[in-house]
Amino acid sequence: MPRSGLEPSTVCGVSQDALPPDPFAGDPHDPARTLDDPPEVNELEPLSAEDRAEIVEDLSDLAVYQALLEGRGIRGVVVDCPDCGEQHYHEWNLLRASLRQLLEEGQMRRHEPAFDPDPADYVTWEYCRGYADAMLNAD
Ligand SMILES: [Zn+2]
Repeated sequence: MPRSGLEPSTVCGVSQDALPPDPFAGDPHDPARTLDDPPEVNELEPLSAEDRAEIVEDLSDLAVYQALLEGRGIRGVVVDCPDCGEQHYHEWNLLRASLRQLLEEGQMRRHEPAFDPDPADYVTWEYCRGYADAMLNAD
């Protein structure tokens, strides 16, 4: 008998009950590996639905804050950057563009160099929120 060709009977003859042991059993994830190999800071992760909802909310908040504060001479928002540890000054429209880019592309543009902003022209996001709350509750 020629032994070339497929012999399905030898494959299908294995009983379903005779599955091989779980190759991952007794092999827990080695925690030392994550210490030696930290994730890339700039790794592009897909946005979760929660992330996207948060950004959409930020965008609508931003529109309110800009409407309230731009007329008072505030040019934008200062943000403590978790990546480089410095403060970034975002003009209203630039911040809006960044948030939209984050929403559409899943990442923000590279940190732009400071353009010699006057810190007095910028407020924190928390300040905006508190200011908006105060204005809305003043009615
Ligand atoms: Zn930064």
